[in-house]
Formats: sequence, structure tokens, C-alpha cells
Amino acid sequence: MADRLTEKQRSILMSRVRTKHTAPELTVRSVAHRAGYRFSLHRKDLPGTPDIVFPRFTSVVFVHGCFWHQHKGCSKSTQPATRKKFWTAKLSRNMSRDAENRKKLHKIGWRVLVIWECEIRNREMLAEKLKRFLDKSTPSSRVR
Ligand SMILES: [Zn+2]
Repeated sequence: MADRLTEKQRSILMSRVRTKHTAPELTVRSVAHRAGYRFSLHRKDLPGTPDIVFPRFTSVVFVHGCFWHQHKGCSKSTQPATRKKFWTAKLSRNMSRDAENRKKLHKIGWRVLVIWECEIRNREMLAEKLKRFLDKSTPSSRVR
């Protein structure tokens, strides 16, 4: 079958591969929504423009692609065999940027959770993880 995509359609398709509103992110949003949490998206005023922001909990979630953000020990994070130098440099830049943003967020009092692309498959576990993370930041659970 012939490739029916026009140049424009292809560029739209390719742009979807990029950072914002990715499929994993949409899944996390829908899980959070279903669990009854209020959140906002891509807050540019916060370091790293976190994907999902829970203002009531001063907590943010980053939904990370395993490859782009080099999920440790994950099979999806293996580096390409070609253009090794390029990829090593690029990916380690991503990782240090992530660490930098986390540090900045912590400094101004925000809690940070990273949800990895490979964790998206199981919605129940995802909801659990989110709840556990957000519950920790409620005043009542801080009392021991
Ligand atoms: Zn992973």
C-alpha cells in the first residue's frame, strides 16, 4: 500500500512524538482524574515545566520516556549502537537536566514523582503509586 501521508500530516504525526501530551502522559492524567485529583498541566513557572502539577499537594509528576530519560535498568533505555558519542552526550544532557530540575523543585518546596513510560501499562498500579505519593503530602499523614 502506498504511503498516503502528506508532508503536513507527517509533520503533525512526528510532532506528536515529541514532549507534550504524549500517550503515557494522557494515561497518567486520566488515572489521576479518575482518582479525583485536581491538577494543572505544563506549568511553565516551575522548573522543568512539570507535566502534571497538583497544587493542593505542592507535588508534581513528570512522565518520562524510558529512552529519552534513561530509565535505569529498563530494557527500553538501551542506547543505540550507532552514533554512540552523539547519543551518550545527548542522553546524559537530558539526565543532568532532569536532576537539576528536581533539585530546583525540591528547593522551592515541591515534591517530585517520576512516572516511567514502562509503568503505564498497569493502570491500577499507576493509581496506587500516585495515591501513595500524594497521600504522603497531606498534613494528616505526616503525623506519626
Ligand atoms: Zn522503563
